[in-house]
This record gives sequence, structure tokens and C-alpha cells, in this order.
Amino acid sequence: MLTNHPPTEQMQALDAAHHMHPFTKGQELGAKGARVITRADGVFVWDSEGEQILDAMAGLWCVNIGYGRHELASVAERQMRELPYYNTFFQTTHPPVVALAARLAEIAPEGFNQVFFNGSGSDANDTNLRLARHYWATLGKPQKTVVIARKNAYHGSTMAAASLGGMKPMHAQGGLPIADIVHIDQPYWYGEGGESDPEAFGLERARLLEAKILELGADRVAAFIAEPIQGAGGVIIPAESYWPEIQRICKEHNILLIADEVITGYGRTGEWFACESMNIDADIMTTAKGLSSGYIPIGASLYHDRVAEVLATTELAHGYTYSGHPVACAVALENLRIIDEEGMIPRVRDDIAPYLASRWATLGDHALIGETRSRGLLGALELSPNPATRAPFAGERGAAGAIVRDHCLSHGLMMRAVGDTMIVSPPLVISHSEIDLLVERARQGLDDALASLHTAGLL
Ligand SMILES: *Cc1c(COP(=O)(O)O)cnc(C)c1O
Repeated sequence: MLTNHPPTEQMQALDAAHHMHPFTKGQELGAKGARVITRADGVFVWDSEGEQILDAMAGLWCVNIGYGRHELASVAERQMRELPYYNTFFQTTHPPVVALAARLAEIAPEGFNQVFFNGSGSDANDTNLRLARHYWATLGKPQKTVVIARKNAYHGSTMAAASLGGMKPMHAQGGLPIADIVHIDQPYWYGEGGESDPEAFGLERARLLEAKILELGADRVAAFIAEPIQGAGGVIIPAESYWPEIQRICKEHNILLIADEVITGYGRTGEWFACESMNIDADIMTTAKGLSSGYIPIGASLYHDRVAEVLATTELAHGYTYSGHPVACAVALENLRIIDEEGMIPRVRDDIAPYLASRWATLGDHALIGETRSRGLLGALELSPNPATRAPFAGERGAAGAIVRDHCLSHGLMMRAVGDTMIVSPPLVISHSEIDLLVERARQGLDDALASLHTAGLL
């Protein structure tokens, strides 16, 4: 293996001294030392001590085509030599941005023909918030400014994106949410549905949107934003009843529907977009992550004709230095080519997602598991000390999840804990035998965690 890096402890010390990590308590990590990841291939990453880890999270839900696709490096190099940078402000364009915009219009659902490029998913949601309000102002309804979002949603970390998100610890830092963003309850049946029927609960949670619109007055509401399947909130898959009702409510009350497809886009649910696999007729789609499989930062806001045509009548006072960056666009285009030409999406739909679903469900017999669920290549395990009643753990929420996560990692499996929910989102290219390995390592981690939880008095 490659050893062209300083010793682990030296890197950890420098990291602790100088690097502020996202979503991390600096002091705590400083004392412990960060894990140093040095290389990756396929669905595996290796740390600086040479340990192989099956990356069941595809990085942060983004490495859809898997690691080690050198085609993307070649394209980036070629583009950097030819035209490393030019902007798309002030009536200029360049070949990679033209090609990528046109390709996105081809693969997006019917009617999505206009793309605004961003540097990330958070930026894309900032764009969407501004342009949704601007859309209504252009139509002579400047008072339609409120965006309804959901508790426990994740839409990114900028001021606007974190405000749209419904994460309490994020709102607590920096005085969020910003004005005119309100939140309704999420369609999380396992955690909040009690004894209700899941489909009835889905309808009930969808109708909270209507209640909120009526409370505020539809003349005040610009849009509703939601992830088709909540990711960072814990892979929450709404009941079948949920989205059709949301759709009806948005149309009936004339508010825009923004589908945040940052995780679900580019193949994860077995179609290019979850709007197709879940039959959602959105007005705006937020995308990033899988657009470049994480090889380079880029986000894309996709606009339906009915919105884009209105926006086109105004001069947009909005844009980033890196909107439509040529290298990022070239890499994204190559990524989309690989996804398409290697048949990754039909394979997810017809082969590997059903296989993951069947293998994942076998974990349901474990003494710690209250529910297993998956859709496409997104999966969750609900941990419970008493699966029959779905009871939560006694102590602090998340303590059990952290124990399971650490044991899984010591068995070479990167799974994420959201509170006491374990989640996976592997690369689309994961094979049958790699899914077997994922499930085997998860079971080993769960077995060890069971013993640790006894010792810790959490059971
Ligand atoms: C990751 C994520 C974002 C934010 O994307 P960044 O590229 O991290 O800014 C937005 N929405 C969803 C659903 C996400 O999962």
C-alpha cells in the first residue's frame, strides 16, 4: 500500500492543532485523534494504519459510482489544461457547462429544462429559496415569502439551508431559522406513529401541510420543501399515502413544491430522480452529491418550465464565482456518462436494491432491532431494547447508536448512527458479495454491541 504520508500520530496532532472539523467537538476529537483515510477503491476505503473499511455510506451519500474511477481524473486534467476557469456571469458560457445543462435536461423529469449551477447542495437550496420568493414577486405576489419545511429535515448548512432544515442543534447556533421559514412534523412512523396505521399516519402528517397553509393564508406561502426520503434525519421513508397528498395540497393551494434530491438524485432510488420513482411532480429540484459522485464539488438547481419561464423575464441578481465551473461540469458529465453507459440505475432498480432489501431484512431477527427498512440503496435499522414494543433506550438518545457504530467500525464497516437509528447508503456499484459482507459485519457489530450495552446498563 501507499505510505507516502507522515506517521498517523503526526497527522492527528497537526489536524487537532489547525483543522476545525464540521459537526465535531474540537476538544473531544483533539484528545482522541481523527481517523486518517488515505485511499479508496470501489466500495472500500483504507486508513493510515492500513485498515480496510467497507464504506456503506458512500462517503457522505455521494460516491454513487464508487471510488477509483480514473476516467474522472483524466477528464479533470484535460479540462484544467484547456480551460481551468471561466465564469458564466455577464452573457458568457463554455462547452462543459453547456453540455452538462443539456444533459441534465435530458435525464430530468418531463418539463425540467433549466438548470442553475451551484457549488454544493447548501448553495443550491439558498438559490432555490431566493428564486422561489423571487418567482412570486415577479408574478406580483411579493407577500408570498413563507417556506414550509419539516422538523428533522436536512437541507444543508448555510444560513438559508440550515433554516430550511429542521435540526434543532443547528438552529441553536447562529440564530436560526431566518425569517419566514416554518416547520411541520415529519412522516416518521416508527418514531412518532405510535399505534396508528402507517398509511393513515402518512396522510395525517401530509395534512399538517394543509393546516399550516390555512393558518398562514396561502397568499403568504411561497413553497414547501422536502426530501423525498429524509436522509440525514435517519433514512425516513414515508408511507405510500404521503406524497400524493402533499402533491394535492401544493397544487390546490398554489404553492411551489421543492424536492430536495441531493441524496435521492442520480440513481439512488433506482431512477435518475426520486421524483420519478415516487411519482412526485415538483416545481424545483435541488441536486448535488451524486451529480459528481463526490469527486468534485458541484450542485444543480433544476427548474420546471412553469417556473423557469417566469424567472427568465427578470435579471437574476444571484450567482456564485463557481456557478458552472468548467472542471466541475466536465467531471459531472463524465460521471453521468458512466452511470448511464454502465447501466447502474436499472441495476439498482432490478437487481441490487431488491438484493439489499432481502439481506437487510434478515437483521430484523436480532435482539436489538425494532425495524429494518430500505428503499433503493438507502437503508435503516431502528435499535430498540425491546423490539416488540419499539421502545426507545432508557439513557440519552444516541448512546446506543454510537456503541453500535463503533463496534461496526471495528469490524470494518462504516455505518452511520442518527440517534439510535443505523443507516446505510452504499455506492450504486456495490456487488452481491459486498452486500453479504456489509450485512455480516453489521451483525457482528450488533452482537458485540449487545454485550457492551448490557455492560453499560443500557439494556
Ligand atoms: C447533503 C445534503 C444537502 C447539503 O449539501 P452540501 O453539498 O453538503 O451543501 C442538502 N440537502 C440534502 C438532502 C442533503 O443530504
